[in-house]
Amino acid sequence: MSKIKKIRGFQDIYGENAKKYRYIVETARKIFEKYNFEEIILPFVEDISLFVRSVGEETDIVQKEMYVFTDRGGRQVALRPEGTASTVRAYIEEKMYAEGGYKKLFYEGAMFRYERPQAGRYRQFHQIGAEIFGISSPLADAQLIKMVKDILDSLNIQTTLEINTLGSFEDRKNYIKALKEYLNKYKENLCETCNVRIETNPLRVLDCKVESCKDITKEAPKITDFISEESLTRFEKIKDYLKALNVPFVENPRLVRGLDYYTDTVFEFTTDKLGAQNTVAAGGRYDKLVEQLGGPATPALGFAAGIERLMLLVENLPTEKPLISVISIADEFNIEALKLADALRKKELKVENIMKEGSLKSKMKLANKIGSKYVIFVSEKYELKNMETGEQEIFENKEDLIDILKDKF
Ligand code: ATP
Ligand code: MG
Repeated sequence: MSKIKKIRGFQDIYGENAKKYRYIVETARKIFEKYNFEEIILPFVEDISLFVRSVGEETDIVQKEMYVFTDRGGRQVALRPEGTASTVRAYIEEKMYAEGGYKKLFYEGAMFRYERPQAGRYRQFHQIGAEIFGISSPLADAQLIKMVKDILDSLNIQTTLEINTLGSFEDRKNYIKALKEYLNKYKENLCETCNVRIETNPLRVLDCKVESCKDITKEAPKITDFISEESLTRFEKIKDYLKALNVPFVENPRLVRGLDYYTDTVFEFTTDKLGAQNTVAAGGRYDKLVEQLGGPATPALGFAAGIERLMLLVENLPTEKPLISVISIADEFNIEALKLADALRKKELKVENIMKEGSLKSKMKLANKIGSKYVIFVSEKYELKNMETGEQEIFENKEDLIDILKDKF
């Protein structure tokens, strides 16, 4: 019979990779909590129009990357391609704005995009992300960026922070007009996709990865020349705060991001280690989105980081507790071995009760194979063996053994 395989672009995350995944999520979670963010656990499936209306009709995500289907009730639904839209929907639907003040939320989980799979790019991938609702102060932008930096620093991942401002929607409209005029002059030299983008989503041309397009956009009008005084002042403040917090950055006037909802601040943390998949975390401000989705006018901002890309960059995992294996030397000691393993686990130790039946030698072999650092042989007494040094110690009293191991690890 033919074997069933996983679907293209989907992954099993196990072994060392699963450890990395958890380490990343837990590190991020600790930092979110330090910054006083609360978790939100979002649905995987949403009404398709949520993404069309937020991410944008003409974006790559909506045009060609979304997993859409009709459910059994005839609803047009989509597997979530990102987390911001759902968080905004929840913020509105659950009336979180009614609490007053501002709201800070983080999420973690799978996202789905029908892209061409390659290293660091999958069809199911995972993100950690956070959103802040109800605050327009540039302090929020700087804090959010610093928080992302803290996460990357804690994971020991070196990146470059690129920032830009897109100004208000009004500013952007004027810029888009000038950009369109410029791009139209070089139509023949732009790739086919960008030729379409001139009409549908001209900002996206700035983000094109094709060399000839990059050459042309190098000389394109710069967004910063079209931005209102107010937006520029905001941007200056953010830069001042980042400097004060010792967060190095470079300004990239071509940074536009692929989603429609951004206004003012946009940022990306990039690496030179992952080829074309060089963005590990990205975000920005989206002051009009809440209103656009039917909520009260609420300034907001957020970011998301790709866990798989972080996994490719994390080098060292924190040391784990050593594995202690308990071996009963004969059937009559099985119950005592079970009890000992149980007592050790109560002391937060990592314990394998060797369940294999057979000779002591075969049990020993198994303990070795699974990476035991210590083995305890259970008979009328307890014999502790250090598998690295070969040292052995005999205990008559179980409590003494438990105490020693508990204090050691
Ligand atoms: P890219 O330009 O690499 O396609 P993007 O602009 O589409 O990224 P966002 O929508 O901003 O990405 O998502 C934030 C982060 O999620 C990215 O910086 C990246 O780390 C990660 N990410 C996005 N798409 C994928 C994917 N298909 N596979 C793995 N990670 C992804
Ligand atoms: Mg993308």
